[in-house]
Amino acid sequence: MARVTVATSDIEKAAQVLRAGGLVALPTETVYGLGANAEDPAAVARIFQVKGRPPSHPLIVHIAAAEQLDDWVEEVPASARLLAERFWPGPLTLVLRRGHRVPLEATGGLQTVAVRVPDHPVALSLLSAFGGGVTAPSANRFGAVSPTTAEHVRAELGDTVDFVLDGGSCQVGVESTIVDVTGEMPSILRPGGVTREDLQAVLEHPVAVPSTSGVRVPGQHPSHYAPRARVVLVEPEKVVAEAELAQELGQQVGVLLPPSLAGAAVKAHAVVALPGSLDAYAHRLYGFLRELDQQGCDLIVASLPVEEGLGLAIANRLRRAAGPRTSA
Ligand code: AMP
Ligand code: MG
Repeated sequence: MARVTVATSDIEKAAQVLRAGGLVALPTETVYGLGANAEDPAAVARIFQVKGRPPSHPLIVHIAAAEQLDDWVEEVPASARLLAERFWPGPLTLVLRRGHRVPLEATGGLQTVAVRVPDHPVALSLLSAFGGGVTAPSANRFGAVSPTTAEHVRAELGDTVDFVLDGGSCQVGVESTIVDVTGEMPSILRPGGVTREDLQAVLEHPVAVPSTSGVRVPGQHPSHYAPRARVVLVEPEKVVAEAELAQELGQQVGVLLPPSLAGAAVKAHAVVALPGSLDAYAHRLYGFLRELDQQGCDLIVASLPVEEGLGLAIANRLRRAAGPRTSA
């Protein structure tokens, strides 16, 4: 996968920006993050301002190694220790009781904190050089499609970021799996790069995916991860007919064509042939949505993949992208 080497001087510069209270866009294996010093409430507040994100939506604290987890949380239950050992560095976020180092600004006022060790050499170098924790939500405006390349970040946030580290395209392509380990049984708050099946294999028991718990997770907002174009989800066998009808009615229709329909001729404005593997689909999903926006589509017709493995996270993002928009 295309990963770009970053000069040590750029890592040092980015660490300086963080120390000075600035914002750094950084590559991770999931998506690009908009990072700030987790212990600097003013810097954290700027993240919310730049993203247009409501302050009640908590951020993930990124750390350099699992051994640092105890510095950021009150206690580490055995299940959390096990998951951290097995999946870090990696696309797994653990929600634990907040330690004193974490300001309430970073947790949206919650007494819990989300922590993860990203699996990307540039992110890890930055975290080591900086020495502290970095709060980093996805580097996009609230509700929009997450960036998976440095170009996406620049197009989305421009000069509002103080420094952009270009680490190539993000390998996983969808956000981390968020697991709440504060309760009796770990449960998934948001499906992501680590699959439910992987979690169950390690924990040796079923892991619940509560659809709408009371927990404040931006991914549960009706519309999130959304391109400018409206997104409509239909059964795979109806994708072509739905797209052609809307196109005939005068819309500029973009199609995410499922692998089962590979090669089908579709009379639409733009057609993306989806890759057969879920890894490749997740890796390119947000890029596809951006591409269809750029091509001037006002409607995207898609279907959900089978919700197994990474299909669970892809389906979750597509559903949110298709969710009711609060504004035009
Ligand atoms: P983002 O980086 O924008 O994709 O969002 C970070 C994710 O972590 C969001 O879905 C947050 O709601 C979630 N998160 C962060 N802290 C907590 C927490 N204490 N409890 C539950 N979810 C959290
Ligand atoms: Mg986000």
